[in-house]
Amino acid sequence: MEVNFWNPEVETMERSQLEALQLKRLQAVIGYALKTPFYQKRLSRAGISRPEDVRSLQELQKIPFTVKDDLRQNFPAGLLAVDMEEVVRIHSSSGTTGVPTVIYLTAEDLNSWTDLLARSIITTGCCRKDIFQNMMSYGLFTGGLGLHYGAERVGMTVIPVGGGNTQRQVQLMRDFKTTVVHVTPSYLLHIHTRLAEFGVKASDLHLRRAFLGAEPYSENTRLKLQELYGIDAYNSYGLSEMNGPSVAFECVYKKDMHLWEDAYIVEIIDPATGQILPDGQKGEVVLTNLVRHAMPLMRYRTRDLAFLHTEPCPCGRTHRRLSRIQGRTDDMLIINGVNVFPSQIEEVIMAIPEVGTNYMIHLTSAGALDKLIVKVEIYSKMFTGDLNSLDALKGKIRDRLRASITINPHIELHEPGSLPVFEGKAKHVVDNREKL
Ligand code: ADP
Ligand code: ZN
Repeated sequence: MEVNFWNPEVETMERSQLEALQLKRLQAVIGYALKTPFYQKRLSRAGISRPEDVRSLQELQKIPFTVKDDLRQNFPAGLLAVDMEEVVRIHSSSGTTGVPTVIYLTAEDLNSWTDLLARSIITTGCCRKDIFQNMMSYGLFTGGLGLHYGAERVGMTVIPVGGGNTQRQVQLMRDFKTTVVHVTPSYLLHIHTRLAEFGVKASDLHLRRAFLGAEPYSENTRLKLQELYGIDAYNSYGLSEMNGPSVAFECVYKKDMHLWEDAYIVEIIDPATGQILPDGQKGEVVLTNLVRHAMPLMRYRTRDLAFLHTEPCPCGRTHRRLSRIQGRTDDMLIINGVNVFPSQIEEVIMAIPEVGTNYMIHLTSAGALDKLIVKVEIYSKMFTGDLNSLDALKGKIRDRLRASITINPHIELHEPGSLPVFEGKAKHVVDNREKL
């Protein structure tokens, strides 16, 4: 397999050197953090008043965690470490879980972020000849402008279409022979259900790769998209607090995402105790941004659950690989006392060939119990008027789900394109249970 590098020296740096670089950058970040009222207080309580007070990467543990509420409570400028006139860009989180938070970048911050994105793009095997259609929404959301600048730095031809307007997306893909898209997996699935309406087949397109991110999805969804479009799909992870996409990206081996450790320190913790877990164990991802000076964030609790691989990657990069995000600590559902992540449900249904490209999870109350309703779109060829086969399919989906999540769901089958469409981050769960 051909492996290309953007910055080979950094991407294949020996661990000891990489860690030395992390420490140097961490100390610089502490210097900036000490200029903010928020960290000044936090760090002095932890006995840190100068960058040199953290002498090793282990001593990072002296620094308390930062959480999303800290950002909210210090809105708008409590974590700003530079003069406002140094700030050239503001971004904001999409507010999936409440009030949005704001992120500041200097020109230098923007430059390092862009460089990480260029590296990520090259890592997937793309090159300057590619035609890149960015279907993520532009604006405060980081997925639009972030990848846009990264792709331009690589020298790709960029189509900055943004999210939504499926007909135009398809038209642009045809007119300009788009080879790469950046999109949420749910929206790329949706586009496929609409192709026939525009008289287009997936094989008429010139697509070769997709960067998929911004929302949790399962390996089976990736496989499905690869098959539907005949492409390679690469997982991309990031969050606006850490700049946005660029935190971790898959290489051509597609065996989970290299987390760019020269730019981020990653720790995996037990979300209940805060204890650091060894590589290989699943827990909450905690990140420290090493390349942003306008707004330093140290030991930020992402609420995303994942693990770090212990094996090196055949591509030769030394940066550890982060697993697929297996859910967020705050999206876990408790259904009749059983813990279930929506991604577990998705994993099961997307492996069933008759299942189409969309689904919804509804929760209601039935007396004292919770009722789980899983609505799935199925391919139209299944609607042949043969009720027996539809019943058999329902039974199959129900049994497989029960085997995986130990809850007996109610299954509804829907026609293609009939469930709600999300052009950005999908919201697959509707919880209408009565709150006690
Ligand atoms: P918000 O936290 O409001 O959703 P962001 O736009 O910053 O704001 O979204 C970041 C979050 O999106 C991550 O913390 C994670 O939960 C989710 N996310 C991003 N990329 C992926 C991915 N590849 N797989 C799973 N989840 C992802
Ligand atoms: Zn690799």
